[in-house]
Amino acid sequence: MAKVTIPSDQQAEHYQISPDYVRISMAAAIELGLKPGRIYRSSCDCINLLQNYPEGCYANCTYCGLARERPGLPEDNTFIRVDWPLYPTDLIAEKIAEREAKKEIGRVCISQVQDHRANHDLFDTIHRVRERALQVPISALVSATLLNEEKLYAIREAGVDIVGIGLDGATEEIFDEARGKKTRGPHKWDYHWKIIRAARRIFGPMNVNCHIIVGLGETDHDLIDLFFQLKDEQIAGYLFSFNPEPGTATQDRPRAPIHRHRRVQLVKHLIEDYDLPRNSLTFDDAGNLIGLDAPASIIDDAINSGTPFMTDGCPDRHGVMACNRPYGSYRPGEEYRDYPFPPNADDIMIIRQQMRLEEIWSGAKVTTQ
Ligand code: SF4
Ligand code: SF4
Repeated sequence: MAKVTIPSDQQAEHYQISPDYVRISMAAAIELGLKPGRIYRSSCDCINLLQNYPEGCYANCTYCGLARERPGLPEDNTFIRVDWPLYPTDLIAEKIAEREAKKEIGRVCISQVQDHRANHDLFDTIHRVRERALQVPISALVSATLLNEEKLYAIREAGVDIVGIGLDGATEEIFDEARGKKTRGPHKWDYHWKIIRAARRIFGPMNVNCHIIVGLGETDHDLIDLFFQLKDEQIAGYLFSFNPEPGTATQDRPRAPIHRHRRVQLVKHLIEDYDLPRNSLTFDDAGNLIGLDAPASIIDDAINSGTPFMTDGCPDRHGVMACNRPYGSYRPGEEYRDYPFPPNADDIMIIRQQMRLEEIWSGAKVTTQ
């Protein structure tokens, strides 16, 4: 990324930076009426905000449009592929309050980037939102590298009820390659887990989540081991789909094939909601899932519900999934990786074709005829 020469204590005079400005997902900007348009077949139930600094982010994750060493001008950068427009934080907080007065907002999420101002500015943004919208649930998607136990307690005291942590890599090796020492970035696997477990103690069961990206080079076995571990520790795991970002180190890496993504989504759901035992799953030597042993009634029930294939995310104040991230893992017009709405019967038919379950599950032929 082009180097920013203005010292950080003078940047607010030259740039629109946090905490006075914050980025908002395009879907949330549409939902709040800040941008024109409609979201295809869906609404956006979570207002996702992202800190903004001229340097982007001081970490260097290989797949991220905000990474320090990504070429190009910082202003050109996008985050998870679709533009995140920038607005004054107070304006966004007012829009949240306005909308909340008419119809409950599912949740607000404030994402940190790796920057020395990020903790101060997280508290500042929480405060601006909380001041105007007392009841709205707030998540903090934190950078674990910036935190310790004391700061986690302070985040809870400020009014955040759920903490999300971008683990992203399913194993230490993948993490190191994509985000850690091999990228000359600051993130460390062990420290991420230290903060995940501290947050789990402080915020309680299922109030801490790890973001997990499918397609960074991990195996099915790696992902499924992680799903079992998270379930044991009562930590939520939310799936994201690797999507090559132009100009990043992984711009030429292909996405996970859709059949793999669908099977991973299904198995995760079976583990979480149907207590699928480990010995129901078999893998080849390369870690590919090659066998699933489960009754047709369960598999059909899970698939027909559509839930495994929907976005995974933090719930609203009634426990219903709120963070549906329209356009988070696909561009408008591309096939859905995760559906931001319940898939209908036509969608389920497409999902079944994409999944090719008959290759790993002997019951498939019986139930899909
Ligand atoms: S820490 Fe987050 S924002 Fe920063 S480069 Fe990594 S993925 Fe991107
Ligand atoms: S799932 Fe959504 S609301 Fe929850 S931490 Fe992640 S981005 Fe934020």
